[in-house]
Amino acid sequence: MIRPISRYGAEVLHQPARPVSDITPEITQLVDDMIQTMYAAPGIGLAATQIGVPLRIFVADISLGRNPADLITFINPEFVERDGMQLEEEGCLSVPGFNATLARPSRVVVKGLNRHGEEQVIEGTGLLARCFQHEMDHLEGTLFVDRLRGLQKDLIVRKIKKLSRAGKW
Ligand SMILES: [Zn+2]
Repeated sequence: MIRPISRYGAEVLHQPARPVSDITPEITQLVDDMIQTMYAAPGIGLAATQIGVPLRIFVADISLGRNPADLITFINPEFVERDGMQLEEEGCLSVPGFNATLARPSRVVVKGLNRHGEEQVIEGTGLLARCFQHEMDHLEGTLFVDRLRGLQKDLIVRKIKKLSRAGKW
């Protein structure tokens, strides 16, 4: 089932998510819904908080569904390694219509469970590294806008508030 995506300002997006204690059928269903919602958007990643569920789960597919092997589900993910630096433009399904250039490590290694509850360790470089970090931020209640400083951040936040007031957010 495709679920509605929460937008910047929704409480669930701005709070840390809780670890998943058991991979129940409800969790498997949630993961399926997240995958469907991500592909429908379309996006290359989606965290559970974005569909209003404060649990530490994200899905990612930098091929946007073209390569089934690229579909990744992480439950209770943690960083094992982070290094290098990349400067690229970034956006978010919860902040539609906005993007900004952001510095992120260029390589990360993430450890966590897959949808079957088995431990997996996945290295990401370039776009995948950026995607992993963006989704991990979501699990801490951080959006890319929160990582911006000064004018760049003020401008986006001001525009979002204006859209909100007009009932267009
Ligand atoms: Zn996002």
